[in-house]
Amino acid sequence: MGGLASVTLGAAYPDRIEPVTVQVRGIFERLERELSTYRSDSAISLLADKAGVAPIAVSDDAYRVLNLGQRFGELSEGAFDITVAPLVRLWGFGRTPAPAGLPSEETIREQLKLVDYRRLVLEGRTAFLPVKGMAVDLGGIAKGYAVDRAFDFCRSAGIADFLIDLSGNIRVSGRPQWGEDWQIGVRDPFDRSRIIGKVSLQSGMALTTSGNYERFVEIAGQRYSHIIDPRTGYPATGTAGVTILCADATTADGLSTSFFVVGLKGAGKLLQKTPSADVLIVPDKYPIEIWLTPGFAKAFVPIPEFSKAVRLLYPSSP
Ligand code: ADP
Ligand code: MG
Repeated sequence: MGGLASVTLGAAYPDRIEPVTVQVRGIFERLERELSTYRSDSAISLLADKAGVAPIAVSDDAYRVLNLGQRFGELSEGAFDITVAPLVRLWGFGRTPAPAGLPSEETIREQLKLVDYRRLVLEGRTAFLPVKGMAVDLGGIAKGYAVDRAFDFCRSAGIADFLIDLSGNIRVSGRPQWGEDWQIGVRDPFDRSRIIGKVSLQSGMALTTSGNYERFVEIAGQRYSHIIDPRTGYPATGTAGVTILCADATTADGLSTSFFVVGLKGAGKLLQKTPSADVLIVPDKYPIEIWLTPGFAKAFVPIPEFSKAVRLLYPSSP
């Protein structure tokens, strides 16, 4: 799935780190084999191969992730869309190299016709894309899902205190040692070498960040983020980073991508529909502003330099 994975166990488990890491690695590798668009033998690649031809049988995990992906599509009114793959490819993310110049409006319009999560048919453990050229990309949700499966495994193995991190998709249980909470830094989207503040995580909680600094392409000297706005066909602009704090990593992952697309402008409206999630948004402008929901503010301590940059973010009234 790209990126680094790590497992941290609490101080009480010095001899379990080795076997637990092996198991968690197995979970991540199995899910990558099923869900990745980078592997031509994954269920998700097969789904695209059979688009417009026939439904394919998928594993329970793939079925669940596709279902959840569709739900985040509904929740965000299409800002999150797992059928965004043709656009991801067009802009040079995924397996394709970056284009030499900007794609033409005409090509973007063509590819946009293939993007609509509502057209994915899920029925009796099969999945079907009705039009040739349609494809699914689970990059905005699969890592969070994988972290939740690893979380369930660790709990079922009797471990109370642990932290799982799959390239920025984090979920914790218990505490690192007695009297402490897990503390996670949120990276400064404008300066990777430092953090903007720290989040204190209660047992069971998940924290995920989507940033425009991790992956981007450069076309004609301009940077474009790897998160695409499926409503326009262009890479999302206006947001530098989004961090979600909520009760599971799948939701944190899906919502981090969704809020990245809608940005600060659309955040108030989306928050109305996601009352159980807490959100931090850094708009892509200078000087830095850190917008966060009241629940996020309770868990967050900015670095002293940014203490005056913090603003409260509320659901907008309908
Ligand atoms: P990352 O995986 O880099 O940590 P995200 O969780 O925000 O970041 O997911 C970004 C990935 O999601 C992209 O690389 C792409 O595979 C996919 N994607 C891009 N735009 C969208 C979108 N609008 N809706 C759903 N998935 C998207
Ligand atoms: Mg995401």
